[in-house]
Amino acid sequence: MNNIWKKVSSQEKEQIYNFAEEYKRFLNLCKTEREVVNYITSVALENGYKDGFSNKSEKLIFSDKERIVALYKKGVRSQKGGFNIIVSHIDSPRIDLKPRPIYEDSELVLLDTQYYGGIKKYQWFSIPLAIHGVILNKYGRKQYIVIGEDNDDPVFTIADLLPHLSRKVQGNKPIDEALPGEKLDVLFGSVPMDGEKEEEIKKYALHILKEKYEIEEEDLVSADIEIVPAFKARDVGIDKSLIGGYGQDDRICVFCSLKALMDIKENIHPILLLFVDREEIGSFGNTSAKSKFLEIVVKKILEMEEDIKPYDVEISLYNSRAISADVTSAVNPNFKEVDDLKNSAKLGHGVAIVKYTGSGGKYYASEASAEYTSYIRNLFNKNGVIWQTGILGKVDEGGGGTVAMFLAEYGMDIIDVGPPILNMHSPFEISSKADLFMTYKAYKVFLESE
Ligand code: MN
Ligand code: MN
Repeated sequence: MNNIWKKVSSQEKEQIYNFAEEYKRFLNLCKTEREVVNYITSVALENGYKDGFSNKSEKLIFSDKERIVALYKKGVRSQKGGFNIIVSHIDSPRIDLKPRPIYEDSELVLLDTQYYGGIKKYQWFSIPLAIHGVILNKYGRKQYIVIGEDNDDPVFTIADLLPHLSRKVQGNKPIDEALPGEKLDVLFGSVPMDGEKEEEIKKYALHILKEKYEIEEEDLVSADIEIVPAFKARDVGIDKSLIGGYGQDDRICVFCSLKALMDIKENIHPILLLFVDREEIGSFGNTSAKSKFLEIVVKKILEMEEDIKPYDVEISLYNSRAISADVTSAVNPNFKEVDDLKNSAKLGHGVAIVKYTGSGGKYYASEASAEYTSYIRNLFNKNGVIWQTGILGKVDEGGGGTVAMFLAEYGMDIIDVGPPILNMHSPFEISSKADLFMTYKAYKVFLESE
């Protein structure tokens, strides 16, 4: 049995528990991709990184649109020999507001929404929700709002149907039919505005928005507003060995790679950490792994030091080695039947090496070669990183992919390495503190590797 808790010393156990405390704080601060970008930027600035678009330095931040960011650290070797790259994604499944969300119905005011990413809709009913986002008013003034995180804040919720009356509407239907996306509307208020005859409850809600937040209804058209779980990350289990919290796919890898980079003293190869948005909807858009951002960043870095020749960007990306840092599914004892227990990852058994993703006949899979998998395995073995294999369920059971395939297009070697997660894509995802620590260790030895 490869159980980490059985293999580590009591001193390391303490390290594992301590490491998780900072991670929980990070999860509580970072519930949207913009919040993650701002967190990464502030940590990097504190550690001497400078803005890469306007500076020359050995440690640079490249950030765009508050939704994609890269960190660069110079190595001993030249950039053309390739970078050690870790890529992770900063977006998580959630519920977004529509451009004109506010409406009144049955003397309640509600927010109309559209979900983002692969959610199981029923998990988002009847739980406390918070509103996070950014709004631009008619003068273009940008404003950040977070409502529902402070103890004095109100929270929001999506009202479900009581069991007494759900027999026909929900009862025997497939779960997706029983809960269509248009029913995920958020309860926003119930008090009518004095002296109004029509839509008085909506008007009162708008009045509060104006008074308290200086927001007008039309401002919501130019806004990125996300509805996320309002609760904080918590220890799970009587032994406090697990962490429950929102957005661990993939912010656990964001946190571990960022922490690993900040803790590195010397690196042979230049390092690039890439944090991308839009993974949960297929990596479409100008801040996704499919965007040209990585190429622009590499070009900027090369221009700093050498006379750049045609194809230099391509050559240095081709020569790079990468980890696609993303979570994999953990065996769930309640639903063991979907897993191949020989190959699936288990909580507490270490960071998972996932040789390939995809589904069915390896469709849409990025698969690491035997040689590169061997390199990673040996690196972990040599450096005391406890690892296991991971696979996304039984063949034909379903499946999924990561951003690995988009970086693989440059010809670099890339492999998926990340911790297993239970409850993936739910408002309360579960990770193991032991796996969290091993993931950090794995990324660190990779970034330091020759
Ligand atoms: Mn993911
Ligand atoms: Mn995901």
